[in-house]
Amino acid sequence: MGSDREKTMCCPLCLSAAITSYYDDSKRSYLQCECCDLVFVPRAYWLSSGDEKAEYDLHENNADDQGYRQFLSRLSVPLSERLDLSLVGDCKGLDFGCGPGPTLSLMLEEKGAAMVLYDPFYFNDKTVLDGTYDFICATEVVEHLSDPKKEFAQLFLMLKSGGWLGLMTKMVKNQQAFSRWHYINDQTHICFYSRVTFEFIAAQVGASVTFVANDVILLQKN
Ligand SMILES: [Zn+2]
Repeated sequence: MGSDREKTMCCPLCLSAAITSYYDDSKRSYLQCECCDLVFVPRAYWLSSGDEKAEYDLHENNADDQGYRQFLSRLSVPLSERLDLSLVGDCKGLDFGCGPGPTLSLMLEEKGAAMVLYDPFYFNDKTVLDGTYDFICATEVVEHLSDPKKEFAQLFLMLKSGGWLGLMTKMVKNQQAFSRWHYINDQTHICFYSRVTFEFIAAQVGASVTFVANDVILLQKN
């Protein structure tokens, strides 16, 4: 802590320079932004892109796994309740960061949505990022973002007015819980959000936020 580099570092979400040390473990340092409350890992500790993908390749999620479907239903159910799915294929959604075995997109297609996939490692068709969508879902994605300011802005740019961004990520509670948190042991996790952070994001992009569970967050674009 306290190197010149860290003194000049700013928050990757709000660009504030008001950064304090939050926690150190044997592998990494974690900093917190006093403005937006984001806890983040400085770039010096990030994995290389190759090592990051090797980590994702280990996540053997697939659409036949009922336990995984159960996990995703904690987002798909509250999200689909808020969508107009009366006309099959009319409601357009993007599964952002869908990973190697897209499953949430299938579950939402089964409910009548028309889904498009994007993932920087597995479905890297950037043309889908030029589209506009009635909703976007990103499960276990935002904790991996290297440039959350830019990436949240891009997500909201793709959303139609009134559209929904449905997120699953585990949220920061306090320093004591953080120090014992298995979530920080995954070296691909570099951003950790609290309710305060999501309220900040909502205010920045012009959205309202609903916390439907401790790790399920819905943002509706104004
Ligand atoms: Zn910040």
